[in-house]
Amino acid sequence: MVDVAIVGAGAAGLAAARRLTERRPDWSIRALEAEDRAGGRARTIAAPGLGVPLDLGCGWLHGAEHNPWLAIAGTFGFHVDRTPAPWDVQHQDLGFPPEDQRAYEAAAEAFDRRQTAAQADPADRPLGALLEPGNPWNGLLDAVSSYVSGAELGALSTHDSARYAVHGSDWRVSGGYGRLVVAYGAGLPVALGTPVTRIDHGGAGPVRLETPRGTLEARAVVVTVSTNLLADGAIRFDPPLPDKVAAARDLPLGLANKVFLHLAAPEALPADGHLIGNPRSARTGAYHLRPFGRPVIEVYIGGTLARELEQAGAEAAAAFALDELAGLLGDEFRRQASPLTTTTTWGRTATVRGSYAYAKPGAAGQRAVLAAPVEGRLFFAGEATSPDAFTTARGAYESGLRAADEVLAALETAP
Ligand SMILES: Cc1cc2nc3c(=O)[nH]c(=O)nc-3n(C[C@H](O)[C@H](O)[C@H](O)COP(=O)(O)OP(=O)(O)OC[C@H]3O[C@@H](n4cnc5c(N)ncnc54)[C@H](O)[C@@H]3O)c2cc1C
Repeated sequence: MVDVAIVGAGAAGLAAARRLTERRPDWSIRALEAEDRAGGRARTIAAPGLGVPLDLGCGWLHGAEHNPWLAIAGTFGFHVDRTPAPWDVQHQDLGFPPEDQRAYEAAAEAFDRRQTAAQADPADRPLGALLEPGNPWNGLLDAVSSYVSGAELGALSTHDSARYAVHGSDWRVSGGYGRLVVAYGAGLPVALGTPVTRIDHGGAGPVRLETPRGTLEARAVVVTVSTNLLADGAIRFDPPLPDKVAAARDLPLGLANKVFLHLAAPEALPADGHLIGNPRSARTGAYHLRPFGRPVIEVYIGGTLARELEQAGAEAAAAFALDELAGLLGDEFRRQASPLTTTTTWGRTATVRGSYAYAKPGAAGQRAVLAAPVEGRLFFAGEATSPDAFTTARGAYESGLRAADEVLAALETAP
């Protein structure tokens, strides 16, 4: 029996756990985490053979100046690298001449203006409906959407996208964003390897959480697992929560994966350079050349392409990336680069089942439905519940604090 149980020890669950333990040291708090590590989608590994940190999930402090993880990085002694994000530069203009880059920028600005205008429409539409038919830059607009949201524009709600309010610089944690999140959670009461399979909230007594390691009872529960897990019924709620399942289905996880290539002759490429594989296609990778000057290329693949490559098996994404890069840098590049570690497969990671949540057209209101407490005993957090910073570790963190504050308000006024 504890006061508060938290399901999941990613950024949201750890934020909730820390806030609750700090505000109520007299309460018993327990986070139950399915994996044998905390962090969830915040995960840093050491590159095999190189030792440099690689962020398999979150890597960028988006809206860094206002991002709460910036101050947390300072507190925990992590260095934040303020090198500007390289996305707007095409290394040596390869495959993307300056006049095409200007034409794309003009198309993107016109798209943004249509998006702003469409926010005022009472009817929500897919963002893809705002593409100009036949515009040669629609593919690249879709590719960028697949990186940012894990899905192409046609899948996304215009009204929901308008609520995203993370603005400012994009900085990085040199030692790894995932390691920062784990350091922030160190010392908190987290039970690893403890998947919750059923949450029984019937009756007036405590909520019962079933796990393979036994049953825990709690006065309140904060659920932070991904929307795809809720939609799939990976945790059984008794009584069922059909509104939550419907909201989770309307907020599915898009897919983005990373491939890491090792460079045998890194000096041939600039530190923190960038390439888009094929600016004329939605099916293309974004290539961060030598992040932090390291001998690595970080490849980002999203949306339909990411799904297809994930299904095609372990080597497919790396082969795709090498083909695109060889097309731009020349065939000899193949001898310079080799896959560094296993490509991420976030869609197949059983404890997440995707990368980050987007709202389907018409579903902008579902984030609030997902976030709403149930009977003053069940509380919901996680990036998908963030009203304005969804998809990010910042939104996850803020949602954890919000849920913790809801728990405090509910339990402190409970008879
Ligand atoms: C490839 C990729 C790149 C990204 N890049 C960025 C970026 O640059 N910047 C940024 O801000 N964000 C980025 N993100 C998003 C960011 O990582 C997430 O938004 C954030 O980490 C989500 O935190 P969360 O706590 O909501 O969910 P999660 O991290 O998914 O945490 C939920 C936890 O619940 C656990 N769990 C699941 N089922 C159970 C169960 N039954 N019982 C107990 N525990 C369970 C999971 O194992 C997990 O640890 C990226 C994500 C990916 C995948």
